[in-house]
Amino acid sequence: MESTLTFLGTGTSMGVPTLGCDCAVCTSSDPHNRRTRPSIRLAYNGHTVLIDTGPDFHAQALREGIRRVDAVLYTHGHADHVMGFDDLRPLTFHGNDHLPIYADQETADSIERIFEYTFRKEDRYPTSARVKIHRIDPTPGAGIKLFGACFQRIPVTHGRQEITGYRFGSAAYLTDMSDIPETSIPLLQNLDVLIIDALRRDPHPSHSHLDKSVAIVERLKPKRAFFTHMSHDLDHDTTNANLPTHMRLAYDGQQIKFEIS
Ligand SMILES: [Zn+2]
Ligand SMILES: [Zn+2]
Ligand SMILES: [Zn+2]
Repeated sequence: MESTLTFLGTGTSMGVPTLGCDCAVCTSSDPHNRRTRPSIRLAYNGHTVLIDTGPDFHAQALREGIRRVDAVLYTHGHADHVMGFDDLRPLTFHGNDHLPIYADQETADSIERIFEYTFRKEDRYPTSARVKIHRIDPTPGAGIKLFGACFQRIPVTHGRQEITGYRFGSAAYLTDMSDIPETSIPLLQNLDVLIIDALRRDPHPSHSHLDKSVAIVERLKPKRAFFTHMSHDLDHDTTNANLPTHMRLAYDGQQIKFEIS
């Protein structure tokens, strides 16, 4: 079935403009150079699924008119990916069911620690988010079935950590990735859309940089690739002008359509 993916945010952890910076990208008048913290929304089969809720989630949800969320999948527990968790609260108060949250063991533990008032057995904060956390099977390629689609866990390396990327039908989302383990490569074949981390031009210990991400795209051969989690090092127009036409820097609010299954 057809799915619409919206980039809620495409920036690195510090966002662009970066506080206190006067560089050409941070002071640019091009709205494509304004990058909030990274996450995506998937809309398909009458449902809305989010991957990550960063610190800008409230503003992103208002911008995109998000009025309902049916499930949230998390990639890892860093602040730029989980700090919007509490802003899910008003979207969890309607209906009888708790909002399902999916995360690997380490990420679920982080969310329960950071937002511990939500999960207390006694003396729980009364208007905490009504959620149920599901710890996902750590096996590479293990699937989570949601509203007629399957989300597969794709382990990726993020510095010294292993975190969770996701494949859903013909698309994959690999944010915060410095390397793709060889065991994950077979899970990333025959993609229409690959979304991957491209932090900046120079190498970084826990993120892929532009040249490395381009090489990964050339190896995996998706039909289209979009770069995300970008810093102020990458100007939208001038960087795109030098990329192959099937590779683009994503931008906040961008929508793409693909087949999910
Ligand atoms: Zn991040
Ligand atoms: Zn800057
Ligand atoms: Zn991270």
